[in-house]
Amino acid sequence: MNSARKVNPRERRASLPGGLPASGSTRSDASRRALARQIERLVGTTPVFDIHTHLYDPAFRALLLWGIDDLLVYHYLTAEVLRQTDVPYDRFWSLPKARQADLIWEQLFVRHSPVSEACRGVLTSLNALGLDVRKRDLPALRRWFAAQDLNTYLDRCLALAGVERLCMTNSPFDDAERPVWERGFRRDARFLAALRIDPLVVAWPDAGAQLAAWGYGVSRSLSAQTLREVRRFLEVWTGRIDAQYLMVSLPPDFAIPARTGASQMFERAVLPHCRDHGLPLALMLGVKRAVNPELRLAGDGVGRSDLRALEFLCAAYPRNKFLVTVLSRENQHELCVLARKFRNLHLFGCWWFTNVPSVIDEITRLRLELLGLSFTPQHSDARVLDQLIYKWTHFRRILAGALTDQYSDLCATGWEPTVDEIQRDVSDLLGGAFVRFCRG
Ligand SMILES: [Zn+2]
Repeated sequence: MNSARKVNPRERRASLPGGLPASGSTRSDASRRALARQIERLVGTTPVFDIHTHLYDPAFRALLLWGIDDLLVYHYLTAEVLRQTDVPYDRFWSLPKARQADLIWEQLFVRHSPVSEACRGVLTSLNALGLDVRKRDLPALRRWFAAQDLNTYLDRCLALAGVERLCMTNSPFDDAERPVWERGFRRDARFLAALRIDPLVVAWPDAGAQLAAWGYGVSRSLSAQTLREVRRFLEVWTGRIDAQYLMVSLPPDFAIPARTGASQMFERAVLPHCRDHGLPLALMLGVKRAVNPELRLAGDGVGRSDLRALEFLCAAYPRNKFLVTVLSRENQHELCVLARKFRNLHLFGCWWFTNVPSVIDEITRLRLELLGLSFTPQHSDARVLDQLIYKWTHFRRILAGALTDQYSDLCATGWEPTVDEIQRDVSDLLGGAFVRFCRG
């Protein structure tokens, strides 16, 4: 047995960056603070590759949402406001966007303090942009945003968020988006594409009718000919948008293998296509669609997923790569254990209802402890450009805290990470590990 003296926990967590005290020597709060500052600086300045958003290349014009009214009418906040008011759902939806924003501002910011994560986020973004939120003056905020030039403002938001590249969510089934791709446009290199294919998997007869209308030789049944044509459709769109990965979000009870159209679609079209192109398939698991349809986009709920489906996919298709996030907090531990078993499984992000500080902190620490650095701890899921600022500001703080504890524990063993090593690790967490997974 070694003769290490007993250390109190506070002492154990303290060390200096870049090579100070070795195991057994006295560590001070000051040295832990220095380590924390170093990590905070590295996490705060390392550029992010935001691997899942709902933002659009500015060439899509009105589809790229930004500004105070879009920040307020975020579906996270519509769900919150419709709890605080008796306004009938229909009436709320019939209001123009600015009047919906007025109601959200009045109810969630003025009549009650904006303590929820989605409310606080609006204020973090405004504050970072240099706006005085103390005045609680919505018309003044609107005037400021109305004076912004989109291109300059876009650069500013990306700079404040520290985002250098991001993935969009691109659906050929979206009638507003599809024609822009078909016409073609000059791409902004910061906006990469991800091909969303939900209707093929979860709404086949309808999606099939669409494909037929676009000239693909498909029938209702998933015959060999139909599946060939689905693959041709995937080929066309993968090439057209230069997709970095394919993606689909699935309900908690999704099962595979199964005698269902969804299972067939995966095994005979989507997975072979991904293998042929070396592309990952992103699975976002656990969304219960339209738990309250009156809430529209805000009406989805969460369910605990049956991860046997994912276990089957990873084991049966080792040449496919799966990017996975789960919506249910209760699935997180099981998902980490699965990722330990399969190198073709890469975890990412704290999605939607898990994207609140207390749960992000818990999930990020769990993943660091079980997986080390081979995952991507966060994506923004931003639907509104300005949200990038708060989503990444809030997350960086949590990540810095979690990493400070991890590196302090390493220091306590005598293993002292250098600044370069910490920088390398942070770069991996903020996009490097994802890029390697996609290329591998
Ligand atoms: Zn999303």
